[in-house]
Amino acid sequence: MAAVLTVAARHDDVPTLGGAAPTLVVSVTAEDLASGSGWSHVDGIDTPVPVSVAAHTACAGGIQRVLFDKNGRIVSIGTTDRIFTHHQRRAITLRDRECVIPGCHVRATWCEIHHVQDHAKSGPTHTDNGVALCWFHHRTLHTSGWDIRMNHGTPEIRGPAWWDPARQWRTHHPTREPALVRRI
Ligand SMILES: [Zn+2]
Repeated sequence: MAAVLTVAARHDDVPTLGGAAPTLVVSVTAEDLASGSGWSHVDGIDTPVPVSVAAHTACAGGIQRVLFDKNGRIVSIGTTDRIFTHHQRRAITLRDRECVIPGCHVRATWCEIHHVQDHAKSGPTHTDNGVALCWFHHRTLHTSGWDIRMNHGTPEIRGPAWWDPARQWRTHHPTREPALVRRI
């Protein structure tokens, strides 16, 4: 369901708000985001949600830092290149075709783009650092035992011990046909 909403919000035919795609605003203090503990707040909902929600939102979406002074005045706003552009997303989708976790065949157009090297740790928003992960595998990546790395711009995946006791790195072999097939 979340994947459906995410894809729908990205679609070109969806009305925009002030020129931007419909946006989910999740706020969190810088300290809580860094420590991974505490609570974050979803705009319009009174009940706090775990800070992991903010972390996941930040990975697939983006972070805009807004600094307030003690009176609530906006002191500064930061813009980042945290979000993959439509062009980058399309290119990664063509390369990966489906979620890069072996055995998962969620098509890449339904996936989120994951920063292999965390943006917070200087990972660039570049096609060489982005892979397609379905909603489920993106959210469970840190606990499921799957590891992902890039090797000259192509994804490599290492399974958890229950899946591969040798824990070998493997290249991503999508089973789906490329989205664009040129017939001569
Ligand atoms: Zn998946």
